[in-house]
Amino acid sequence: MAKSPETEHPNKAFGWAAKDKSGLLSPFHFSRRNNGENDVTVKILYCGVCHTDLHTIKNDWGFSYYPVVPGHEIVGIATQVGKNVTKFKEGDRVGVGVITGSCQSCESCDQDLENYCPQMSFTYNAIGSDGTKNYGGYSDTIVVDQRFVLRFPEGLPSDSGAPLLCAGITVYSPMKYYGMTEPGKHLGVAGLGGLGHVAVKIGKAFGLKVTVISSSPNKEDEAINRLGADSFLVSTDPQKMKAAIGTMDYIIDTVSAVHALFPLLGLLKVNGKLVTLGLPEKPLELPIFPLVLGRKMVGGSDIGGMKETQEMLDFCAKHNITADIELIKMDEINTAMDRLAKSDVRYRFVIDVANSLSRM
Ligand code: NAP
Ligand code: ZN
Repeated sequence: MAKSPETEHPNKAFGWAAKDKSGLLSPFHFSRRNNGENDVTVKILYCGVCHTDLHTIKNDWGFSYYPVVPGHEIVGIATQVGKNVTKFKEGDRVGVGVITGSCQSCESCDQDLENYCPQMSFTYNAIGSDGTKNYGGYSDTIVVDQRFVLRFPEGLPSDSGAPLLCAGITVYSPMKYYGMTEPGKHLGVAGLGGLGHVAVKIGKAFGLKVTVISSSPNKEDEAINRLGADSFLVSTDPQKMKAAIGTMDYIIDTVSAVHALFPLLGLLKVNGKLVTLGLPEKPLELPIFPLVLGRKMVGGSDIGGMKETQEMLDFCAKHNITADIELIKMDEINTAMDRLAKSDVRYRFVIDVANSLSRM
């Protein structure tokens, strides 16, 4: 008989899990493996709340298997390191992001693109290399192979820095890969949530002109005065959208729900590039005419490899880029999820795990 989550490993662990597709999170006892030779055990301090956590607890994509302990924007302290671990020592501040395993020998892994390894395993809602289920960062501890642990740069706050581990790398990687970093060029950021607001900040650090394209008119003031965007476009305002046709070099699309690409493609100049990062539960329609007639391109991107994630953290530390967060207690998570579903977050919830997760 398969062992229960509480007894399959030697070390007790505690977190909050969704038990079914209602998505309601509640206390959950499980266990973590012993720290292996290549592992780092992390006491979790903070964990960001990504919209992917929400998609997963609600089974939006049809491959959630419960119980799910979400959380892949983890900052904590290394409490134990295996004998082969060279990059970290006990007491170091470390980060864990969206992936915690890969084959480490395929073409993607050899190119530091573990995120595209066919055997890559996610931090939660996945099976790890030992054949047991992975549980994420809405919990007290996690044990991770050192390859998937990040050095958390000095000067980067643990709470507002945590969201960089997913939101940060997810917008940074495509900007680098698709050549969206040329100073003075015009970047549109569609969707001003967790990913979007970090994209604004990273875009500004690259020297771009940044316009937010949002369905929420009430975010305009903050987009410009707090986050540093140059301008703001309400996607439901046909006149303003029309006036902006053909003005953008690149668009980063972070919208989490099904939406029309046609108006966004219209905003691009000839040769413009649109990168879709959002993962709506149904396919988007791809209008061909604007692509063909304007030699435009649509691409995608999935987080980033470990080397590039470290590069991104160092870049953000250097440029003082953090997320704007609402710090919540663990037992406020269900309310936070309801608000996230309504695009009502300024601009990332982060759980104060160490100070609010108490065993029940
Ligand atoms: P988020 O904080 O909820 O932000 C998404 C934003 O999309 C919202 O704030 C809202 O911005 C806009 N939006 C939501 N529903 C909309 C609708 N019906 N019509 C138009 N706009 C809408 O989510 P997030 O954490 O940034 O994640 C965004 C998406 O990226 C999710 O689907 C997530 O799963 C995915 N994701 C992908 C990767 C990857 O590697 N590719 C990594 C992480 C997350 P406005 O209020 O400004 O309109
Ligand atoms: Zn995420």
